[in-house]
Amino acid sequence: MASIQAAVMVEPGNIEVREFDRPQIGADELLLKIERTGICGSDKHMYAGHMGLQFPVVPGHELVGTIEELGPQAMDHMAVVGGPVKEGDRITTTPSSTNCGRCYYCLHMPQRPALCANRFVYGFVSSDTAPSPRGGFSQYMHMTNRSWVFKIPDELSSDRAVLTEPAAVATRAVERALGPGIPHIGEGLGLDKKVLVMGAGPIGQLVIAALAHVGTDEIIAADLSVSRLALAQEMGAHNVLNVGDTSLEERQAILSDLCDGVGPDIVIETAGVPVAFQESLELVRRGGIVVEVGHFTDPGACEIHPHIICFKDLDIRGMWAYPPMQFKTALSFLKNTKAPLDKFITHRLPLSSIAEGIDITGSEGSMKVVIEPGS
Ligand SMILES: [Zn+2]
Ligand SMILES: [Zn+2]
Repeated sequence: MASIQAAVMVEPGNIEVREFDRPQIGADELLLKIERTGICGSDKHMYAGHMGLQFPVVPGHELVGTIEELGPQAMDHMAVVGGPVKEGDRITTTPSSTNCGRCYYCLHMPQRPALCANRFVYGFVSSDTAPSPRGGFSQYMHMTNRSWVFKIPDELSSDRAVLTEPAAVATRAVERALGPGIPHIGEGLGLDKKVLVMGAGPIGQLVIAALAHVGTDEIIAADLSVSRLALAQEMGAHNVLNVGDTSLEERQAILSDLCDGVGPDIVIETAGVPVAFQESLELVRRGGIVVEVGHFTDPGACEIHPHIICFKDLDIRGMWAYPPMQFKTALSFLKNTKAPLDKFITHRLPLSSIAEGIDITGSEGSMKVVIEPGS
């Protein structure tokens, strides 16, 4: 039987390319030939041991590929958006499978399908469990009948489309800041609002681009990296705050000047550093909103005084991924944004360099690192 290659994280800190049998698909399944897959911060956290997964895992969930084989009944079972699709079409898929429709969360909160207790997630499942591989750092990926399939618009390049998953995170973060009700009652994101984005990594940059895309009066980016803050300005930030150069009191004073003497209406925390969440509560104005995006994994704790949540009458909104249909929003955003996303991919590596790619991810001078398994 023909074999294919995939990168297997045997355990945290240990990833290697292994041979797999070329996946055999059933009548309601699909074989995807991977074109390129972005390395996510969560892949780096997985490698660092911050995730309780059942290893070994073939990681990779920010992927673009072409349909190599399409089972004759696949379209009847999969959730297809922008389709119909055929062999040779370029698609992406949400990491999450379709939800079960029967668990507590599916029955009670169908509008939050990411809470389903019975879904599996591409790039996070054990490669010892058939079918395999089910991750993007692979030449081919097996897609079961519980997959979401998003056809990529012809006018959207693969270099942009590979950003669909992080753009889904970023656009949902912006939508989480929408108010209940009407912007002019002073709650939630509106065109006149002033928003601080903590962290200018890939998610923070895309949040800034999404805020600029919908029209936001004042976008302020905060980060330690001068080069990342420079990119943030190109993505649409009106002002930047260098966290390394300023004290918290200085940052409060600068934000007060920029934001009507009270501070930002909304803070979106994307850094995933515990102290950045603590600081978000300090910096947001009274009656404001803090959206916590960055802590998808658990890098530790911070000290907060719960009183501040009462005193400021705050809304704190977490988010666990996004509803799969957020990919439609992300594709629309990627197609229409004026942000210079061609500057986003800083490194392209073959599958054999996956460990190096994980090391580079998050380092100074890097933004999105992409693996091209066919190269
Ligand atoms: Zn991701
Ligand atoms: Zn469910």
